[in-house]
Amino acid sequence: MGNYEDTYLARRPQELCNMCGRCCRVVTTSKPYDELLKLQAENDEGACEFLRIFVPYPSIEAARKVDAEVVDNVIELLKEDNNYDENKLTFYGCKYLLDNNLCSIYEERPVLCKHCPATPWSIVPPGCGFEGWLFLERENTKQRVRKAKEDLLELELLKQKNPSPDILKKIASVEHKISNTIELYKRYGSYDW
Ligand code: SF4
Ligand code: SF4
Repeated sequence: MGNYEDTYLARRPQELCNMCGRCCRVVTTSKPYDELLKLQAENDEGACEFLRIFVPYPSIEAARKVDAEVVDNVIELLKEDNNYDENKLTFYGCKYLLDNNLCSIYEERPVLCKHCPATPWSIVPPGCGFEGWLFLERENTKQRVRKAKEDLLELELLKQKNPSPDILKKIASVEHKISNTIELYKRYGSYDW
């Protein structure tokens, strides 16, 4: 399936961004704020980078006043995943976003901004220019994983034909690669696709 940079980032059509600034104005993370602070204290690169630009809103309600649709969309998705805990949810706004929705440090913006939306499963604000493209990316990935599963079944049949040890070795290597691919998408549900 190729590496992440080649298969996803390099193909991502940046022109789909309509520069609404919503993904800079109200965002959240999968890790709670206190965990991010701990990681920052341990010099974790991702946490340090995130907290260098993003400032937490004092409450969910304060974030809702800035962009209620984004906040409610995130909460709804977390509830669908049985993953909503009000006490562990913090929203943040970037201190470098200008009133005209442009980034005041665009040339030096962190990698996390350059990679946004970072995966086909990234939660983007409703109406984000990437929505349709991300949907297609998710569906294409699912198709590739389903095909990989079919390939696994075919390899299983091949093994039943008592091939030579050399062939068996090659089959094992291919099986290993395919299994790794399925595992890679495990958190998005690849075993159920
Ligand atoms: S929410 Fe989507 S369209 Fe808006 S600025 Fe972010 S990436 Fe671009
Ligand atoms: S640094 Fe720029 S691109 Fe990144 S979140 Fe802030 S305003 Fe957006």
